[in-house]
Amino acid sequence: MNLQTNLLNWFQKNQRPLPWRKAYRPYEVWVSEIMLQQTQVETVLPYFKRWMEALPTIESLAQADEKKVLKLWEGLGYYSRARNLHESAKFIVDKFDGQFPDDFEDIFSLKGIGRYSAGAIASIAFNQEQPIVDGNVFRVLSRIYAIKKSIDDPKNREIFWRLQKSLIPKGEARHFNQALMELGALICTKENPKCLICPVQKFCKAFKEGNVENYPVRSARKKMVKIQATALVLGKNGKYFIHKRPLGKIMGGLWEFPEWKLSRDRKFSASQIQQKTLKHIQDDFDMKIEDLKNLGTIKRNYTHHNESLHVFYAKFDDRDLHHKNDWPSAWANKSDFKKYPFSSAHSKIAALVSTL
Ligand code: SF4
Repeated sequence: MNLQTNLLNWFQKNQRPLPWRKAYRPYEVWVSEIMLQQTQVETVLPYFKRWMEALPTIESLAQADEKKVLKLWEGLGYYSRARNLHESAKFIVDKFDGQFPDDFEDIFSLKGIGRYSAGAIASIAFNQEQPIVDGNVFRVLSRIYAIKKSIDDPKNREIFWRLQKSLIPKGEARHFNQALMELGALICTKENPKCLICPVQKFCKAFKEGNVENYPVRSARKKMVKIQATALVLGKNGKYFIHKRPLGKIMGGLWEFPEWKLSRDRKFSASQIQQKTLKHIQDDFDMKIEDLKNLGTIKRNYTHHNESLHVFYAKFDDRDLHHKNDWPSAWANKSDFKKYPFSSAHSKIAALVSTL
């Protein structure tokens, strides 16, 4: 199976049941795309429902008075979007007899519709092979193809537009374009991408290189130091090993899962990271672990540092644990975690553990 087939199969099973996906009515797709500009899906949902109840057709929108249109938009922000919808609805009634146009240039010419929205409406409503590139698509494609060119340079952005178009399978634009965006929203997220359950993992160059967090490439204003670190979730009979950082150290007094810094400004592959983690475990706990399970990567940013904290799980047997340092420690079960103060990165690890 190729990348497209994997992605389409995944989308078929995992897509969110969004109201504009029920019948792919062009009017609904159009309104949803405009509402989704700069706004999250969860925020849009109640607005979309109210809008469609009050203004179910292009004609009803064209005939509505502006006060009503703006009231329905109240709280969504960027009110010019609502005004543009209203004006375009009148234009569509005049010029296209109330039928939303299916010609790409006509769609593109409507007020408030840029290249991305035109591509989204043409592909989603009319299944036309038109490309779409937004923040999600930049991120997903830059990772899958390990594109090292900065997305801040307009010249480089064209690479993404051409690439995305070339990937659309014949007759599948509607589903493929949405699948790519859905992957970016649900799996290939900016922080902590869920590579382990990603349907296109085997095609992903950044995953193979073990440097997913380096994509998409941005033109950094100030040089940031990239740190790779690793943390260990050691589990024994439903409990997990944590220890308390001594006062006087950074984050002193907070509890954490054992962690180690691996590198500064140096890239390691996924297997190198595992090997180095195993070595630290052996050195600090004087024990050999055979099997490490990757739980994900947590981003931690502090002054001029971008840190990727790779989190691993290992099962521990009934032996006593010998730790080189003498920090206070505990074996805590999941419901105990809330009693211990963790730094935010380690709270995220605790949340990951709670899903095990
Ligand atoms: Fe994104 Fe990871 Fe999937 Fe690659 S493997 S596409 S980085 S989620």
